[in-house]
Amino acid sequence: MSCPNCSCDKYWKVRRGGLLCVKCRSEYRPPPPPVRLSKYQWRTIVKWFVLEQSVSIICEQSGISRYKVMKALQHIRKLMHSLTLDVFQGVVEVDATLYGRVKTRPFRNHTHIKKKRKSDQVVFGALCRGSFVRAKLVSGYDVETFRYLLKEWVAPGSKIYSSSFKYFPDLKSIGFVHRTVKLNKGIHLDEDCHINGLKGFWGYLKTKLSSRGGIRRERVSLYLAEYVWRYNNRDKSTKEKIHTIIKLLKK
Ligand SMILES: [Zn+2]
Repeated sequence: MSCPNCSCDKYWKVRRGGLLCVKCRSEYRPPPPPVRLSKYQWRTIVKWFVLEQSVSIICEQSGISRYKVMKALQHIRKLMHSLTLDVFQGVVEVDATLYGRVKTRPFRNHTHIKKKRKSDQVVFGALCRGSFVRAKLVSGYDVETFRYLLKEWVAPGSKIYSSSFKYFPDLKSIGFVHRTVKLNKGIHLDEDCHINGLKGFWGYLKTKLSSRGGIRRERVSLYLAEYVWRYNNRDKSTKEKIHTIIKLLKK
């Protein structure tokens, strides 16, 4: 929850459920819950969500309408999307991958007039070894965006391993220790020099996203947030996961 006026996220609770911004002292109201459900119903939906069941199955098992279930799931994903992780420290793997479009379709170039194509959807990700993964949907391979995100996500002085793409130039100048991984070489002299952790996450992400079939373009980032969350919480038990989401909902 942040102030609509100055987007500061610190507030005092004031009368009748209002919130008072600590910074600019304006009063605002938290947005109403997206859907009216009892505590028990929320818990049921969260449980089936954690178990990765489809909307149809959740409806069937809970007796809640499809509309409400979809609203509730979307709300959970939005909360996951707005989660902020601590800044990464230590050894970080960095990579970017293309989502949702086949890279080359040579046979089409000849038969079709070039249509105005939508911009590429690129997932930029970073994985802190022994810790979490972060990923964000960006529009295209853009050096400046990548640098900006890295500055925001990773503490200066950290060691960054990236692939040798031209999109990761000179990270030393912005305060990182930078090593490039040469992916097509079979022998690694330095055993630590790899981005296998992140490659593992890409594999996981792509399997999950493609198993969902088509996702509306504007919702991809919400699903991305969901799978980042699932990946980061994969070692937790089902019970712990449910508990974490319930806590998130109460915020
Ligand atoms: Zn404010």
